[in-house]
Amino acid sequence: MTVIKNICLDGRQVDILIEGNRFSRISPAGTLEAPESCEQVMDGSHLAITPAFYNTHTHAAMTLMRGYAEGHDLQDWLENYIWPYEDTLKPQDIRKGSEIAVREMVSSGSVFFNDMYFDIEETIAAVAAAGMRAAIGITVMDYHSPEVTAAKKSFIENWQDPTGGRIQLVMAPHAVYTVGPEKLKLAAEYARNHNMRIHIHAAENKAEHDNCIKDHGMSPVRYLDSLGVLGPDVVLAHCVWVDEAEWDLLAERGVTVAHCPCSNMKLGSGRMVYENAIKSGCRITLGTDGASSNDSLSIIGEMKAASLLAKSRGDAKLLSSEEVFRWATRNGAEAFGIDAGEIAEGRIADAILFNLDDAALQPCHNLTSNIVYSADSRAVSHVICDGGLIW
Ligand SMILES: [Zn+2]
Repeated sequence: MTVIKNICLDGRQVDILIEGNRFSRISPAGTLEAPESCEQVMDGSHLAITPAFYNTHTHAAMTLMRGYAEGHDLQDWLENYIWPYEDTLKPQDIRKGSEIAVREMVSSGSVFFNDMYFDIEETIAAVAAAGMRAAIGITVMDYHSPEVTAAKKSFIENWQDPTGGRIQLVMAPHAVYTVGPEKLKLAAEYARNHNMRIHIHAAENKAEHDNCIKDHGMSPVRYLDSLGVLGPDVVLAHCVWVDEAEWDLLAERGVTVAHCPCSNMKLGSGRMVYENAIKSGCRITLGTDGASSNDSLSIIGEMKAASLLAKSRGDAKLLSSEEVFRWATRNGAEAFGIDAGEIAEGRIADAILFNLDDAALQPCHNLTSNIVYSADSRAVSHVICDGGLIW
């Protein structure tokens, strides 16, 4: 049980009681007495509380390739630099890379990431030790593994979450250019039979788009839909090369999009068409992608990049700080079935406590605007995940 006294929530001072993993009481400052059984009483007088960040697309252990192989477009980068480097990695490397990633994410306010990689036990151990959440992908990819192997099926069917509920397994067929149609269909079917979400890279750059048309007669989004893959349990990373009708289709199917603006810019993949994406009503969330193509894992930087990139074609109203903050927080929690994303009684207690004395947050005409456009991880004072203080 934790009490936070006199903290700023949406511009007013409140006292907050966290019992178990949920916010149980929020009342005006000075009105909440800490119960005798309370283990922790915090002074929140220089802090503001907001929902935490949910990083909906990354490859945690790729911190090992931060700063490596700059100046290549996606296919050249993957085939000639990243995949050969990955072939040299051992499980202990994956653990180290995941530990670096977890530390960077937690310290910048993320309590969750949606991961796609290999040697997943190592990443799971790093998540469990940090006290955060994750969706861990069972990666399916022709290059690394020719099928949804018996070993992977056995891992899924015998899976027991060592954190007691903070980690979920998801099915992660890598992309339309690395997984054949039969295997894509089988992976989706297997995921649905085992109540798992599905995580795929899709419509990331022009080469992927053009090759999909050449090989399958249609664009990646239409191709995935023709295979029956799209649905409300699907998270598509990127969606840069998506036309207006396809955005409407994604919204209609209930798909979640993990938008990764920094990675899309760094690899020269392009600009998601915010005008159509927002108009469609599709649920959009934010991901950093791996540190090898960003090179940061901070969602704060991603919010700023998205909002500025949206406005860059001459519409300053497009993608306000409030809206992009919702993409980074509540939309991400909802996409993964986590009853959080809002500081409210009864909700799961995932939160960031920002230090209002940090220079980047002063003066404070609008806290959300300051967080999106001015702050970095130095403004993050504490991070709460599932009711516990993890930073
Ligand atoms: Zn990716």
